[in-house]
Amino acid sequence: MNSERPSSLSEQWIERSLKAVWHPCTQMKHHERFPLIALSHAKGSWLYDQDGHRYLDAVSSWWVNLFGHSNPYINTALKKQLDQLEHAMLAGFTHPPVVELSERLSALTSHHLGHTFFASDGASAIEIALKMSFHYWRNLGLPNKKEFICLKNSYHGETLGALAVTDVALFKDAYGPLIGQAHIVASPDFRLAQEDQTAHDVATIALQDLESTLQKNEGKIAALILEPLVQCATGMAMYDSSYLVGARQLCDKYQIHLIADEIAVGCGRTGTFFAVEQAGESGIWPDFLALSKGISGGYLPLSLVMTTEKIYQAFYDEDIGRGFLHSHSYTGNPLACTAALATLDIFKNDDVISKNKVLASSMQKAFEWGKNDERIEHLRQKGMILAFDIKASAAPINFSKEFFKTALSKEILVRPIGRTIYVMPPYTLSGDELNILAKGIQETLHLVMKNKV
Ligand SMILES: *Cc1c(COP(=O)(O)O)cnc(C)c1O
Repeated sequence: MNSERPSSLSEQWIERSLKAVWHPCTQMKHHERFPLIALSHAKGSWLYDQDGHRYLDAVSSWWVNLFGHSNPYINTALKKQLDQLEHAMLAGFTHPPVVELSERLSALTSHHLGHTFFASDGASAIEIALKMSFHYWRNLGLPNKKEFICLKNSYHGETLGALAVTDVALFKDAYGPLIGQAHIVASPDFRLAQEDQTAHDVATIALQDLESTLQKNEGKIAALILEPLVQCATGMAMYDSSYLVGARQLCDKYQIHLIADEIAVGCGRTGTFFAVEQAGESGIWPDFLALSKGISGGYLPLSLVMTTEKIYQAFYDEDIGRGFLHSHSYTGNPLACTAALATLDIFKNDDVISKNKVLASSMQKAFEWGKNDERIEHLRQKGMILAFDIKASAAPINFSKEFFKTALSKEILVRPIGRTIYVMPPYTLSGDELNILAKGIQETLHLVMKNKV
């Protein structure tokens, strides 16, 4: 360490962190070259480090935050619940926050998905949906329906079961020998369109691939799992909603479940509370719908799987073995459920879905410069997710890390995925913050691409 200058608070915390904390999604050695940020506190759209520098949280802290950090309404609700009941086991016990949350979620699906099973993180919700689907068919005397279909470039989490239906080589390949096999079908990603094709055409072609997989494996498939409208982790791949309508029809025709993973796209992120509401004229309902990330407003680990009366009834029996015996220690945590209830209150009280339409169109305007930038392609948006790609020929090596680092120097937190730059901000982003964000990204792009084209 530099002996002439005392190290700053940030430097001290970073040094201690790198010694003791094994950070997620990170090759730790890369922190020799790329910064770790030691946070002190956060408020609204801003994160503050130990030395008082601020960063605009344009990725909602890994897509979880909806209404800003340290939101006064959620804080108040949590403080009240804290003195009432912090946690108790949910097996054999219940409490108002978990009941009210389940009821209100059911109402949001017009009671199509009236039974909610709780867990703590997204990957666990996926495990639950997969297990429930298989177990449902088993209870019906169809144990051969035990295979799953996922989309190319899908992401459903990183536990072993969730990895089986994930198609991201970086996260999956090292664990290949440990992971079950799923059928991977074509993605409807509209960027795959040939010159004379529309997004709808790409969806139709992808549905043909799905149907041929279903035909070849009739009687063996339990469920199709997908991320409705946007495959987020693969780089915000967006697709035509006709795919969802077609997928629902094919699932019915071949008698398999549809699992909608709305962990990232749910909670208003794509313009409706659930993304599946945008399929066709009146939306579709899956057999299982998984939520996490935004449901607690970004406050506490909470995930859940909602399902239908029909599926619930197939488990309802005197025989314990026909029941769904899955559990996690913190299932239905009252504090997390309270944060979720406060989040749902804000949706209602502040008419968030309508207000987001206005914010989404401001986002579109703020990034209009991207249309005329020669280095950019596929500028796209779905509600509160806006993304574009740097053309392969233009992207420097280590683009995403360099971009991340340079953007931080402009007070902006963005984490490009490969050569896809995206913003997915809290819904409370102000007009001024949006301008700072759009301008900061444009300036960062110029700096990172300098001498590269
Ligand atoms: C983040 C995510 C998951 C996994 O959630 P974790 O809480 O990180 O385990 C699953 N599916 C999708 C679509 C996600 O974006």
